[in-house]
Amino acid sequence: MIEIRNLTKKYGQFTALDNVSFDVKKGEIMGFLGPNGAGKSTTMNILTGYMPCTSGTVKVGGFEIMENPKEVKKQIGYLPEIPPLYVDMTVEEYLKFIFELKSVPLSQRKRQMDDILYLVKIGDMKKRLVKNLSKGYKQRVGFAQALVGNPPVLVLDEPTVGLDPGQIVEIRRLISSLRHDHTIILSTHILSEVNAVCSSVVMINRGKIAASGSVSEFTASEGSVNKFVVSVVGNKSTIQKTISDVSGVRNVTFMRVDKDASLFTVESAKNVDIRRPMFNELARASLPIIELRPVGRSMEEIFIDIVNNDKAADNAGGKE
Ligand code: ADP
Ligand code: MG
Repeated sequence: MIEIRNLTKKYGQFTALDNVSFDVKKGEIMGFLGPNGAGKSTTMNILTGYMPCTSGTVKVGGFEIMENPKEVKKQIGYLPEIPPLYVDMTVEEYLKFIFELKSVPLSQRKRQMDDILYLVKIGDMKKRLVKNLSKGYKQRVGFAQALVGNPPVLVLDEPTVGLDPGQIVEIRRLISSLRHDHTIILSTHILSEVNAVCSSVVMINRGKIAASGSVSEFTASEGSVNKFVVSVVGNKSTIQKTISDVSGVRNVTFMRVDKDASLFTVESAKNVDIRRPMFNELARASLPIIELRPVGRSMEEIFIDIVNNDKAADNAGGKE
């Protein structure tokens, strides 16, 4: 349903998004997870046509955003970080205004208005001025606005931020109730939110994708074993023997040859970090590692790493 390829966004010299690619399948609720400043809102603003990218492509339902912005926008309901509310209107006036803005056929408006008011539970508030609503209700009105025109795709930027626990549960329920006939991207900096409502997750940090997969894949991978994929240049059996001899390594499995490198999965006990000794032994044997990446870590571990790396970078003066 959504296809993002090699998306890059520069604000002046600063690269906010660096070659970001991911897909969201129809019917999925994708959790777009990352710490503050990771690039979530930037991605969402580009995806919804609010902001141009520097390079890359975004397709929604087969239409490319730069080539067919109207078609793309028609398919998306967007709840931005700060909902675009007109506070001096009543809830009903405001939603009527959005129906007008989105050119929803007149014959459908009454029915849709009733459906939306019911769905987001703001029927009782429809005669109230938006400015007199609580934060939780304002967020629901923002939600209602995104649902106008019944778009198949919903893009929700941190929809629970600033709400109290009761309101958070309500909004999560609302999102879950929309899963049947919508494809949803939901950004958040809270891991538990992903577990609570999402079917898949894309983690972003400093403008780059750090990990992605289905939530069940991440959950299934939690166990007692550390697993890495390592790609090394040199004689295959020499590499295998060298890695096997590293203390702490339990299992080395050849995967495939990629150009002049051989790929292996290497397992160790969870409490042993074999990366440094493995590097040292391979270096001693003049077998260069060209890639080393952990596989099957839990979502939590990956996210904690992301957040910690972020803090480390900030402590170093925030430079990169
Ligand atoms: P997130 O939504 O994940 O918190 P954003 O997409 O808002 O992150 O921001 C990503 C990075 O881009 C941040 O470092 C932010 O300071 C920077 N940024 C966002 N908007 C602008 C802008 N209009 N001009 C310059 N830098 C920006
Ligand atoms: Mg944001």
